[in-house]
Parts: sequence; C-alpha cells; structure tokens
Amino acid sequence: MLELEHITAGYGDTVVLRDVTLSVPDSTVLALLGPNGAGKTTLLRVASGVIKPMSGRVILNGEDVTGKRPYYMSRRGMCSLPEGRGIFPSLTVKDNLILQSPKGKESATIEKAVTSFPALATRLKQMAGSLSGGEQQMLSLVRTFASEPKIVVVDEVSLGLAPIIVDRIFETLAEIAATGVSVLLVEQYVTRALALADSACLLNRGEVVFTGSADELEGDEIFERYFGVEIRAIQ
Ligand code: ATP
Repeated sequence: MLELEHITAGYGDTVVLRDVTLSVPDSTVLALLGPNGAGKTTLLRVASGVIKPMSGRVILNGEDVTGKRPYYMSRRGMCSLPEGRGIFPSLTVKDNLILQSPKGKESATIEKAVTSFPALATRLKQMAGSLSGGEQQMLSLVRTFASEPKIVVVDEVSLGLAPIIVDRIFETLAEIAATGVSVLLVEQYVTRALALADSACLLNRGEVVFTGSADELEGDEIFERYFGVEIRAIQ
C-alpha cells in the first residue's frame, strides 16, 4: 500500500533521516517506534507529502508520489492524522464533521461519528476548540473512517490523554484496521502499538535498526538493546 524507498530527508541542510526503507502492505498495521528525536514524525511528514525527501521514493498504491503535496495524497486514499489533532478549533463540531465527510455523505458521517463517540453527540454545536483533549482527538479520528481511506497515517494520537480515552482510541484504530485499511502508526504506548500492529520498524537517529513482525519485538530484548529499558516502560 505504502512504500518508502531509501528516503533521506530533513530540514534545510540538516539531514534527519538516512536511507530509510519500509513498507506497509495492504490491510496491515505497521508500528513505527523509536526514541524522541529519532525522526518518526519527519518520516510521517515525508509519507504524507508535508515535506519532500532529499532523495528516495514514496510509492502509494503502486504510484510514485514522491514530492506530491498532502491534498494529492489524500485524493489517492491517504488519511493523515498529524500530531496536534488537525481539527478546526474555531468551527463547530458539526462543521468539522461536515468538512471531514465525502460530499453527499455528511449526514451519514455525523451519524457514524456520534455512534462511535457518544461524547460528541451533545457537542455538535460547540466550537471544536472548546472540547477536551480526548474529545478533540475523537473528532479528528472520525476522519479515519469518514474519508474512506486506504491507508491511515497516525502520529501520537494518544499524546496527553487519559488511559481510558487512549483505550477507546486504540479500539477505534483496531476497528478501522479490521475493515482492511492499512495503518502506519507512531505511538508512545509501545505495548499497545505492538498489540495492534502486524509489523514494526524501529528508528534510531534517523536510521532503521530493526524491521520485523510485531511478535518478534514483543518480549524480545531488541528494544532494550537499542533503546534501553526506559522506552518500554511507557505502557
Ligand atoms: P518525538 O517523539 O520527540 O516527536 P520524532 O522521532 O518524531 O521525535 P522528529 O520530530 O521527526 O522525531 O525530529 C527529528 C529531528 O528533526 C529532531 O532533531 C528535531 O529537532 C528535528 N526537527 C523536527 N522538525 C523540525 C523542523 N520543522 N525544522 C527543523 N528541525 C526539525
């Protein structure tokens, strides 16, 4: 579904990613893990067209989309949930839902959203910026099913949220993955990410240091070898 081939990328003259290759096959979940500053967000920015790689190729559903902008990626079936939620805070919840919806399916999107996240039901007329962090994240997650994507790219959706809300978010991601949508997931909750993922990729200082099945990583000392115990401690 998504392939990144020999990606070198960064900001200005600063190289952050070096020769990174990974793939997210159809209908699978890949967890991209690594310590702070490893380059995970940068990799998602390359994948979703926010930044152009210095070299290497981005292949989406068989098409070379290297250097294409985010709107092009979204028309080709990519749904991107950036860190920081990506909602419109000064619009109402309802208007946010309408914007996330394909044309003509607005009512169905609102219906599905309030069924999946009852907390949003009573808040449709409220400004999205006045929702709690968890509610804002739920609102942003609606996009992952409303836009009928082929692949969802998710950056730290659980950041700063209470564990009970994180559970609900992971349930939603699992439901989405179960419908055959591919997922590329960056997540601080390593154990939860591995439970959801089919495969995992470890990034350290901008380089891939491990790619394999999520099972291989669970309970293995690969993590400790590369990152020390502290990252696994974030459960
Ligand atoms: P974290 O978990 O802390 O978000 P990460 O693995 O997602 O880390 P990135 O956010 O991709 O890592 O950052 C990798 C490196 O790129 C860091 O050294 C960071 O300072 C740098 N960087 C990130 N964004 C920019 C930017 N817009 N301009 C310049 N440098 C940046």
